[in-house]
Amino acid sequence: MRIAVISDIHANLHALESVLTDVDRESVDEIWCLGDVVGYGPRPNECCDLIRERAAISLCGNHDLASLGRLDVAEFSGDAAAAARWTSTVLGDEQRAWLGSLSPLGRRDGAELFHASPRDPVWEYVLSEEVALLSLEVTTEPLVLVGHTHVALALALDGDQIDGGLAPGGVTVELDGRRFLVNPGSVGQPRDGDSRAAWLLVDTDRRIAGFRRVAYPIDETQKEMRDAALPETLAGRLAHGL
Ligand code: ZN
Repeated sequence: MRIAVISDIHANLHALESVLTDVDRESVDEIWCLGDVVGYGPRPNECCDLIRERAAISLCGNHDLASLGRLDVAEFSGDAAAAARWTSTVLGDEQRAWLGSLSPLGRRDGAELFHASPRDPVWEYVLSEEVALLSLEVTTEPLVLVGHTHVALALALDGDQIDGGLAPGGVTVELDGRRFLVNPGSVGQPRDGDSRAAWLLVDTDRRIAGFRRVAYPIDETQKEMRDAALPETLAGRLAHGL
């Protein structure tokens, strides 16, 4: 089976469309989305509609929950809270109902999916070897998929150690029988210094995971954000992938 794993779209429709065009060239069997479909970006309804139509499974993330009013935005930074409040005012009824039906964790054949981490599917950031190890200890499937940090990672459990690290675009990881914790990176707001949209191709027959990056019209998303009067820092950072 060939699976496209995407995460953290953040209402960036141009990034999502560019990723889906790239995904469609790879004739995948399923698309799995790890959540944060909305928040930060200017096109939440269109992104909900596309993910709902195209993904075999989608999780919800902390920004989705905040935009639904199910999570206190006081826990967010000022800009993130402002964007969540804006999103909640523009979300349509259908999109709100769909987002509200999602869970921050899920399971597909051979894989456990979490927006953030297995121990805390909404909030915990898997950015250290220690947290990766704890995440693999409380799961059992060969592949554990997480989003939330907006940083692409491929980490293998090697005995009681973690092997691996950052996974820039173009890297292909061999799924060699060890258990893996993988983050595809972010479609709509990458934070690993590469401004291109990120996605992950998992091929379970060939036993490989390929980290992809796709250029998209960043200036068009920035213009939409400025037109919507979303915080300028959120628009500016897209150009830097930070
Ligand atoms: Zn996110």
